[in-house]
Order: sequence, then structure tokens, then C-alpha cells
Amino acid sequence: MIVGVHPLAGFDKLLHYRVPDSLQASATVGALVRVPVLNSLRLGIIGEIGAPRDFPVDRLKSLAQVVHPFPALPPDLLGLARWMAGYYACGLDSIIETMIPAAVRNGAGLKQEKLLTVERHLSEEEITQLTKRAPQQARLYRFLAQQFKPQGRGLVLKRLGLTAAVSSALVKRGVLREETRRVDRVAYADDWAHGELVASQPHQLNSEQSAAVQAVAAGLTAEKFSVSLLHGVTGSGKTEVYLRAVDAALKSGGGVVYLVPEVALTPQTVARLRSRLEAIAPGHRVVVWHSHLSEGERLDGWLALATGEARVVVGARSAVFAPVQNLKLIVVDEEHEPAYKQDETPRYHGRDVAVMRAKLTGAVCLLGSATPSLESYANAQAGKYRLLQLLQRVDDRKLPHIDIVDLRIEAMRQRTLPALSHKLVEAMRGRLDRREQTILFINRRGYSSSMLCTKCGHVEECTHCSIALTYHRTDETLRCHLCGDQRPAPLRCPQCGAPEIRWRGLGTQRVEEAVRRVLPRAKIERMDTDAMAKKNRFRQILGDFRTGKIDVLVGTQMIGKGLDFPNVTLVGLIDADISMHIPDFRANERTFQLLVQVAGRAGRGDRAGEVIVQTFTPQAGAVQFSRHADYAGFAESELKMRRDFHYPPYRHLIHHLFRGPNPEKLKFFAEQWAKLVEKEFGDRLELRGPSPSPIEKIKDEYRWQLWYFCASATKVVPRLAELRSKFAWPDDLTQVLDVDPVNLG
Ligand code: ADP
Ligand code: ZN
Repeated sequence: MIVGVHPLAGFDKLLHYRVPDSLQASATVGALVRVPVLNSLRLGIIGEIGAPRDFPVDRLKSLAQVVHPFPALPPDLLGLARWMAGYYACGLDSIIETMIPAAVRNGAGLKQEKLLTVERHLSEEEITQLTKRAPQQARLYRFLAQQFKPQGRGLVLKRLGLTAAVSSALVKRGVLREETRRVDRVAYADDWAHGELVASQPHQLNSEQSAAVQAVAAGLTAEKFSVSLLHGVTGSGKTEVYLRAVDAALKSGGGVVYLVPEVALTPQTVARLRSRLEAIAPGHRVVVWHSHLSEGERLDGWLALATGEARVVVGARSAVFAPVQNLKLIVVDEEHEPAYKQDETPRYHGRDVAVMRAKLTGAVCLLGSATPSLESYANAQAGKYRLLQLLQRVDDRKLPHIDIVDLRIEAMRQRTLPALSHKLVEAMRGRLDRREQTILFINRRGYSSSMLCTKCGHVEECTHCSIALTYHRTDETLRCHLCGDQRPAPLRCPQCGAPEIRWRGLGTQRVEEAVRRVLPRAKIERMDTDAMAKKNRFRQILGDFRTGKIDVLVGTQMIGKGLDFPNVTLVGLIDADISMHIPDFRANERTFQLLVQVAGRAGRGDRAGEVIVQTFTPQAGAVQFSRHADYAGFAESELKMRRDFHYPPYRHLIHHLFRGPNPEKLKFFAEQWAKLVEKEFGDRLELRGPSPSPIEKIKDEYRWQLWYFCASATKVVPRLAELRSKFAWPDDLTQVLDVDPVNLG
């Protein structure tokens, strides 16, 4: 038997090996193996069974080891890896390494503990004899004879300074017994002990929910690939729909991948999910998967899935690669979240990979959001995805009332640029009197790179690209980082002539201080990056907020994700504009998403909610449509703009970054390369650039970039990758391709 193996760690090709008789049973496609490469043993994945075409079989080396007795990459994942390598233009080895956690690749087994106990007690005389003959054995025996419980072997031997040979000798003679116990490390186990959790009960579905669940269940019964897009307004009970779908998939004997954008930031959501899922599937363990797991936790979770012991995984982006057996359903919650895109190699999009995996497996993919990405929405409109809608909040709760405050007028009235408008302050006072809670959001994205006139709300845009121009401090220019167009940065607003064009936004701290000044009695807590970094601090603040110890919570939009606090009746958005002016064609979409999601945090209990949005551009589409939570209206107008400018979802966008110590050299090679690409692709690809990146220099490396627009990434990327590998790049130039980037700003 001969197999082709993809070695890992920088070896992007298939090498062939003979399989010794003893390994033939376990040497299946997808198995993790060790093989000799050059002079050392390396890990690899069996990619095919069969002899090479261009290499004499009698000169093949032998497979050294099969690491696990089951495939580390089931066939669907291997197929997915190959698709990703082509689509995202990266090496198969880097994808396989992303798919199989390091703990598994290292070939470690389960975390096992060997325990020692006394099997046969020795008489005084025997002990005396043993002490003479083998004093070390006697010492070990005496120690263990005094213990009540079995003792971990490693620890005992270390403490007594003995080797494993000593215990083995006693085991052999039947004096000691050695047993192996598997130690399970369950992630988030501590959440159960806290009791802070609301183990939510299943709800009686309303009619919209039932219809959605039925549609998904029908898809599961059909046992064919399909994608459904669940568009449900905030508080419409999407989670309940996901849970019922999971239930149906499990009942039919299948496995489930359930993706959420940020596990670490939403322990509440994950814990609640887990309790419900474990109630749905009694006896089934739900594996939680995210970047903060310890190696041991990761390994245990992975093995539980790979062996079929667990059938459900809940996790962030990389959980899309979990080795779930008989996969029937993939849920992608908050499918519009940019967090699903990985910003290092391989630069894959978790949602898109989820859809592809479902396709390769014949599973059902359920994407859900209150503000679906325009990519998914366009797919639904084109009939590729089935659109399921929940247009009502549960229990007939009302969507919150949204009030827009015009900051231009407010600035005139208060004669300064206020953090808090009069209206917002009054509303907060009212909440404090009634012992209700307020959340204030600050919009932090890209706040220094564009120029906003605080008098009239004007922002300079590129006439060719319809995105905000980026302000470059070094040479006082405004530049378009899509097409490279540039002009001097104005000192006065080109529209109204006011000099207040360089506004830089507010930080959480300044807003907190402003609140303290107007509401000295209120208990205020700030949730910023510092708090986010400390897992316990973050949980503590959420806990205190839930129990009413905090009146006003101030934070960035990060804290908005999936929070469900019934006593929050007021939400304020301090600066709605900022995300509108990031130099990105998705700026409006991001702003609309932000407004709707933030507003959705209010009025989730019995009392109606109120939302106050402060903005310099109240007339902007994203603001107006969000007022009425009019997703369809927003999508229609925004899709029209995208079509006019041929932006995604109507074309694919690829980003090509060039980095290096010498800017002239970067420019030169980027231009040479651009010429080559132009010649090769002609009409099939539209180039913009090359131009300096918005951040021209990072850690002493200069950055230039190129953008490609094309109708089909599948057709273009592999050829682009091939050209790239043949191009004579200088040694000090690094370049990175990013297919379907989600952030341009
Ligand atoms: P969404 O994700 O759509 O914003 P959630 O799934 O968080 O909404 O649901 C909002 C709240 O409504 C939750 O507290 C949930 O337990 C509750 N809920 C869900 N479905 C129902 C229902 N059919 N009847 C009553 N309450 C429900
Ligand atoms: Zn431009």
C-alpha cells in the first residue's frame, strides 16, 4: 500500500510513502501521520491512497507512525482545505495547520494521569527485607501505604526523587497497582458554579418562529445542501430558532457546528446556549471552542468531537473546522460580523467557509442576523439562499423609539462641542429616578483618519470611489486609498467654509467624566479595552450591571454584542457619524448595523426602550433607515450604490499588500507587477492603485497596495497566485493577498 502525504510546516506538496503492514488498517485518507522528510520526521496528513506518477515506487520511504486511530481531517474537511487553498491563495499546509489545533498536531494523547495505589500490603518483615534489597522501592511503598487515595504517579515520583523504574518494579511484583484515568478539562466549567446564569427555558414559538423552524427542519429532512438566511429584528427570538434547528439535527442523528462571532466577549450567551443545548441533548457534551482555551481543553474538546463522543460545538470562527461527525447543520449567528474574517494567513471568512463546508458535506447552513450582510442578502434575493424573516419582537414588544439629535445644532446652542446633548442628559436623569439603566455607546472605528466638519457635517469623499478620503498627517494631504487620488488637506470646510474640520472624536474616559459631571449620584462604569482584556473584570462588570449595581455603562460598540439586559430602557449613541466616514465602501452598512444593533439593546424587558442617537449628519441614509429599523429599505438603497460602483456583492474585491524597508523599491515593483497583471487579465480584472496604504509605515516597514475587482474570485485567484509565485520579487519585499477583505479602512 502506498499513500500520498501532505507534510505540514512549510511543505506545500504531496509526497509518497509505503505503508508498513502494521499501519495499514489506520492509514486512511485524512489520518495524521509522521513521515521522514529530508533528515527528520514530520507530521503530515494522508491526502490520497495510491502510487505517484513520476517517482519510482521502489525508492519510496516508509510511513513512520499513524498518530490517531481515526482521521484527523475527515474527507469533507480535506476537501474544504483544498478549496480554501485555491480560493484564498495560500498553502495547503497553512490551512491544515489552522484546521488541526497545535495540541492535536503535537501528537499528544488525551491528558491522562497514571495513578498509584497499594495493591497488596506488606508485612513488617517484608518491608525490612525490601529496605535492604531495594531501598528506593521501600520508600515509595511506605509513602503510598500512608495515603488514603490513589496518588498521581508523576507527582509522587518527583516528590520522592525516584524514577519510573522504581514504581514499575513494584507494579510487576503485584505490590502496587497502576491505573490510568482520563482527565477532562471542560472549558467554561466555572460558569456553572457561579449561579449567575439564567438557564433559559424553551419558549412556545410564535408563528414567525415556527415557520422558520419548519423551513429549516424540512431542509434537514431533505438531507441536501441548502442555505437559509434568518433575518430577524433585534429581540425577535432568533436564538430560539437556532436551538430548535439544533434539536432537529441532533434528533436525526447528525452533528452541529454553531458559530458565534466572539466567544470570549459573550460568556453569557455561550453559557446560556450550552445549558439549553445540553438540555436538548441529554447525555451529550457540548464542546465550547475559542481562542482562549488552554492546549489541554482544546485537545479534549477536539477529541470528543473527532471520536463522536460529542456532537455539538459552539465556538468562534475556527470552530468551523471542528471534526464534527455526520455534520448536518451549521449555524452562523450574527453572520454580518467582520470578526468572522481572519486577519492573518489563511485569511478566510468563517461564514463563507461555513457555507462551503455545508455544500461539501450536504448539510444545512443557517445564517442569522438582525442586519444581514449585503452579500448574504443579495444571495437571498437572487434565490441562492432561502430568506426567513422574523419581523416582530417576541411577546409583541415594541422596537425602541429612536430619537436623532443633531449635533450641529447642539454645538451652536451649547457654544462648544458637547459629549452629551441636552436631550440625552434629561433622558438619563429620568432613568436614574426610576432606577432603570442606561448604556452609552461610543463609536471608535477610524476616528482620526477622516475629516469631518462639525459645523455642517461635511466629509470629503473620492469622486471616483465614493469613499471618505483619508487624512495623511505627514504631508497634509487627503488621499483615496482605493485609487490613489490625492489633494492637499483643506484648512476650512470646502462646503461651508468653517475652520472646524479637524474633529477627532471622544474617548470612553471623556464621556465617563461628562456623565459624572451631570449625574453625580449615578454609579458609572466604563468598559474599555483594559476591562476587555481582563476576563474576570469584564465578567464582573457585566454581573454588576445585571444585578443593578451600575446605573450607566459606558463603552465601545464591542460591548453591544448580544447583550440582553431587561432593565436597560435607554441607549445613547454618542457619535453615530464616525463609522460613516471610514474610508470603506461598507461605511454605510457598518453604520446601519451599528445603529440597529445598539438600539436593539434597549427595551428587552417589559418596559419600552428609548434610543438617542447623536450625529452631525442626521440626513444620512444609514441614520434615517435605522430610525424605523427599515432593513429592506436600507438594503435596497445601498445595493443600488454598490451596483453603480460595481462594488461587492456585485464583484469580488482582492487586496494586495506590499511591505518592505524601501518605499521607492516597493513602488517600483508594485508598478511592474501591476503592469503584468493588467496584461495577463485584461478585462477580467480591474486594478486600482498601486498607492500607499492608509497607514504608510508600520514598524519601519513601508506599505503599498493594489486592489483588484473581478466577477469571479474562483477564476482569478489561482492564476494570480501562480503569476505571483513566478514573479521575481526582491528578498526584502513581502506581499500578502487578501481575498474578500471586510475592512478597507
Ligand atoms: P434576538 O437574538 O433575535 O435578538 P433572542 O433570541 O435573544 O433575540 O430573544 C430575545 C428574548 O426573547 C430572549 O430572552 C428569549 O428567551 C425570549 N424569547 C424567545 N422566543 C420567545 C417566545 N416565543 N416567547 C417568549 N419569549 C421568547
Ligand atoms: Zn478613489
